[in-house]
Amino acid sequence: MELWFTENHTKNVKLSIKVDRQLYSGKSEFQRIDIFDSREFGRFLTLDGYMMLTEKDEFIYHEMITHVPMCVNPDARRVLVIGGGDGGTVRELLRYPAIEHIDLVEIDELVVEVCRKYLPQTAGCLGDPRLTIHYEDGLKFVRHCEDAYDLIIVDSTDPFGPGEGLFTKEFYGNCYKALHDDGIMVNQHESPFYTQDAYAMQRAHKRIVDSFPISRVYQAHIPTYPSGHWLFGFASKNRHPVKDVNWVRWNALGLNTRYYNTQLHAGAFALPNYVEEMLRDVEPEPIEP
Ligand code: SAM
Repeated sequence: MELWFTENHTKNVKLSIKVDRQLYSGKSEFQRIDIFDSREFGRFLTLDGYMMLTEKDEFIYHEMITHVPMCVNPDARRVLVIGGGDGGTVRELLRYPAIEHIDLVEIDELVVEVCRKYLPQTAGCLGDPRLTIHYEDGLKFVRHCEDAYDLIIVDSTDPFGPGEGLFTKEFYGNCYKALHDDGIMVNQHESPFYTQDAYAMQRAHKRIVDSFPISRVYQAHIPTYPSGHWLFGFASKNRHPVKDVNWVRWNALGLNTRYYNTQLHAGAFALPNYVEEMLRDVEPEPIEP
């Protein structure tokens, strides 16, 4: 008998991965949590049946959500990660000796417990002394933060279920307030390809543009996410993600990465025309000089 994990990417498209074994299945107060083992992708985590990460391609997502903002500001000392209970983003952040403290706000304690047990590749770093884990709703957590962080990384699930509040105008406004004057916020920004995902992506972009003076979008290829074409949002108070970067300085850190490099960083902000159009559709008209 063959065992397959299948995720509906749209009503008419599915991605299936052949599974060797199901290692864990459980239900928290917030969601269903499953861990599978597979020949092609290694172990993988799903929440409510949606792919979160696989051992084979997680490096792409975690490097791109972390090293892009860290290259723009390698002096970041205090970082807030919202979601991200698998630990992949924290693992990449901890590679920067300049980072003094990371707050990880994960709503679901069971995600962390399960990842610690079954996904040491990402969760192995979660006992680090520079990290504090808060088991809280990120939406509520940021309401009480002011001028506290250099960088906020929103490593959330999709905009439904517990993740819904992390795509609201209130949340982005509070992230703005929680950042220092030269702060940066990066978020997982959904995909531009399938209609439903593109709609969520545009809605998030509109709300971020309304909350931050600089707001750009960059892309990466993530094979196990719907369409494989994934976007990240880069928002900041005053730093441009390509023009204000000291590439030499990041390269001098000597970090060994498998996906990210500084040429790719610059290129990732060059988007296909159809994506630029979708973004322009929700951006305010430029003011004529
Ligand atoms: N890389 C993933 C993706 O884009 O599919 C996201 C990974 S990470 C596992 C997402 C985490 O966000 C989940 O563990 C989930 O419990 C957490 N989460 C969802 N809503 C949240 C909220 N409101 N506050 C804090 N964490 C939340």
